[in-house]
Amino acid sequence: MSSVSPNVYQLVFLGPPGCGKGTQASYLKKELNYRHIATGDLLRHEIANKTPLGLNVQSIMAEGRLVSDEIVIELLENHCDLAKGPYLFDGFPRTEVQAKMLQEKIIKDAAVLAIEFKIDTNILIERIVNRRTCSQCGTIYNIKFKPSKNQDKCDQCQSLLVQREDDKEDVVTKRIQVYNENMGPVLSYYKNLGLLRQVDASLLGDTVFESIKQMFE
Ligand code: AMP
Repeated sequence: MSSVSPNVYQLVFLGPPGCGKGTQASYLKKELNYRHIATGDLLRHEIANKTPLGLNVQSIMAEGRLVSDEIVIELLENHCDLAKGPYLFDGFPRTEVQAKMLQEKIIKDAAVLAIEFKIDTNILIERIVNRRTCSQCGTIYNIKFKPSKNQDKCDQCQSLLVQREDDKEDVVTKRIQVYNENMGPVLSYYKNLGLLRQVDASLLGDTVFESIKQMFE
């Protein structure tokens, strides 16, 4: 049986906050040269730089609600060029409109797989409230399951680890609720195109990565 090179596929990660998309993205980036594009990161960057767009979305994000389709689609178009290599879309699409736009404006006739990260909500909340992120390089830790060696410092770059404002429990609950409300039509969209795959995201990161690689074969 001939195996297909993973780089033939553009990948779309679909999963609630805390399901491990970011961790898998870092493996794909390192091992398979994927370009990781996360709309949440792009939006946080706009907020950090106090751009008009950032100021516009700040309170929406702080409450765990979705930013408008127009804003995220435009942001994505400005930061993504498929000619540069295979992309991994993380946190996008979150609505059916976004899924259609991604296909029509960006993916076009390139091959794509959508991977749904399936996981129990209680595991998610525990993962997210204990999540800490490096303020400089973005490396993700978990104070319970994957702590850094040096308390609140990043193992990679020694910068301070912080908790995202929207990783606090009340906002997390809201974000998961928003995810569950919106993702049905997105999952159906990819399912109807025969492009949806699923992975058990409660397993260890390495195991999840092996499952993802098997999807390319
Ligand atoms: P994330 O880092 O993916 O969990 O996203 C953090 C927040 O950014 C979300 O709670 C939304 O407020 C906003 N956001 C990120 N991606 C999108 C998207 N594709 N559509 C709408 N809002 C988004």
